[in-house]
Order: sequence, then structure tokens, then C-alpha cells
Amino acid sequence: MIPPGETIGILGGGQLGRMIAVAAAQLGYRCHIFAPEADSIAAEVSAAFTCADWHDAEALARFAADCAVVTYEFENVPVAPLLQLGDTVLHPHPRALETAQDRLNEKAFVTDLGGAPAPFAPVDSAADLDAAIAAIGAPGILKTRRDGYDGKGQWRIMKAEDAKGLDLPAKPLIYEGFVNFFAEFSVILCRGEDGDIRYFDSAQNVHEGGILSLSTVPASAEVEAQVPAARELAARVADALGYVGVLTLEFFATRDGPVFNEMAPRVHNSGHWTIEGAVTSQFENHVRAICGLPLGGTGLAARAVEMRNLIGDEAHDWPAILSDPANHLHLYGKAAARPGRKMGHVTRLTLD
Ligand code: AMP
Repeated sequence: MIPPGETIGILGGGQLGRMIAVAAAQLGYRCHIFAPEADSIAAEVSAAFTCADWHDAEALARFAADCAVVTYEFENVPVAPLLQLGDTVLHPHPRALETAQDRLNEKAFVTDLGGAPAPFAPVDSAADLDAAIAAIGAPGILKTRRDGYDGKGQWRIMKAEDAKGLDLPAKPLIYEGFVNFFAEFSVILCRGEDGDIRYFDSAQNVHEGGILSLSTVPASAEVEAQVPAARELAARVADALGYVGVLTLEFFATRDGPVFNEMAPRVHNSGHWTIEGAVTSQFENHVRAICGLPLGGTGLAARAVEMRNLIGDEAHDWPAILSDPANHLHLYGKAAARPGRKMGHVTRLTLD
């Protein structure tokens, strides 16, 4: 067990790290952020900050030596340098990163565990893409295997001819059949060192332009009916990875049952509602898990909860948002409101 007062290292300096650090501070821990960008909004609320490249082995070693445990808030942290951290405990294990960083690995891994992703095929050339479309059909989505997030690195292919003349990036890609879903939802669980698993209620999620815009809890009855099977798969994933901490799996709810979309080996945007809406937030439970503390309850603290992301200019409406006393406003302290950038979120509880 890592007692309060010790230092938790967080790889990545964004809003997820910021919210982990706030939860850790509440339990009496210090946080030390490691990130390559100088303007870290996680470092602003943390005790220490190392700004260095992921491949700066010396800086990473000094950082690790200061921390009783290291975790990550960003799934594209290069894995190789993390394997050189020596005795410092890293939770979740880097094998979770390795699996989730590559959409092809991730889908193969989940398929082996009995999950059902959309049909997929690796694409490394125009000929591969033609073959994938012939085998899987169109519509479909071509995605970069690595480094994609919030709908970035994705091309929709509505019919086979759309693939002609596409200027393919010189990166490994994956083609996925388009899933005809009626809703999207996520399973967020927390697994302790002893294998104890707690599930948060599943949020029903709406994406706009590939970016999460709204999470609602409880999900509709039709979605709820798919949650047990989705949880079972998520538990198999967590157990197979020897996972410690919060893990997220995203699903499409279809007439044929849940279709696995992707996993994130970390706290997740679709779990921000847990800060006010659950007995223990995803951030606090992540801290508890990685420090070997007992996990907190994951039940609802309200009858219903809604979380809306504030994207780009939407955060400028903060005075109006605050004028409604039912709103819980979270602003991440980002300087520039670029289009598509997550600037904050608003949570509303329905108590009666
Ligand atoms: P991703 O980054 O892969 O989670 O994609 C972002 C969003 O794009 C998803 O949440 C869906 O709304 C949509 N999307 C991604 N892949 C598919 C698919 N194979 N079929 C239908 N919609 C998809």
C-alpha cells in the first residue's frame, strides 16, 4: 500500500491528469507530472512537473525516482522507455498501453477474449484498401492504427469508389466496416491489485464529429440490456492484462448486441459525470487502485446524471452556465479555445 503523503507520478499533462491530481490531493497525495509540453494544465494543480521528451531516459529516471507509483493519463505514451523505469511500480501495466495503442492489436486481443468488434482488416497500401472494401464492404471507416483520438485520423468511405484517389498517409491503417448502431455506451471499471472489480453505471454517449458531446446515466433500457455482456468482456480484458486502475471500453449498441469499438487504459471522458454523480469518482478510484487502497463505491449519487462537454467556444458561455445553480462547471484552464478542443464540461444531477 502506498500511504497518503507519498508522490504519484502521472505521465501526460492534460485534463485527465489534472482531474487525477485533484482527486489525489483530496486523499493527501502529491502528484508529479511528466509531459513533453511546457503548458501542462495538470502541472498547474500538481506539486512537481518534469517537462521532457518521452525518450529522455535520464529525465524519466529522475521522475520515477521521485514517485512511489507511476500512472498515465494519455494512451500514446511510448512504451519502450517505460520498461526501463527500474523498481518504480507502473499501474496499469504497460502491456495495457501496448494493446490499446494499436487498433489492430486491440481488436485482435478483444476478439481472442470473445468480443465482437466491427469487421476489420489492416491496410498498408491502396491495393490492401481495395481488398478490404471488397471483403468487408462499404460504408466503412479507414483509421490510422496508432495516435488517433477524438475522430482524428479517420476517413469515411461511403462507397468503394471513394477509395480511389485517396491520398493515403504513409502510416499503418485499418479499415472497419461501418456499424449500424442505435446508441453508443461505455463500460468503465476499476480493478484493484487483488483483482476486485467495481463497475460504474454505463453512460450512454453521443459523439459529434467523432468527439464525445454528451454522456447520460442511466442509459436507456435498451442499452442497459447490453451492459452485462459488455461488462463481462471488460472484466476478461482487465483480468487478462492483470490490470490495476480504471479501464474503459467503448461499445456500439446494435440490434445484434454490443459491438466493441475501442478501449482506453485510463480514466475516460465518458466518466467525468462520476465526479458529482457517483459515490466515488473514476479519478479517486483510480488513485485508490494504484495506491493499493480499498476501492470506493461506484453507485449513483443521483437518480440521473448528464455530462456535456464544452468544446471550443462553448466554454465562453461559462457565466450563463454558472447562472443555473444546478450546473457543476469544470473548466480545464486551457489558454486557447481551438475548434474541437475540449475546454471543460458541465454536469447536472437529477435528485428526485
Ligand atoms: P473512435 O475514435 O474510433 O472511437 O471513433 C469516434 C466515433 O466515430 C465513434 O464513437 C463513433 O461515433 C464513430 N465511429 C467510429 N468507428 C465506427 C464504425 N466502425 N462504425 C460506425 N461509427 C463509427
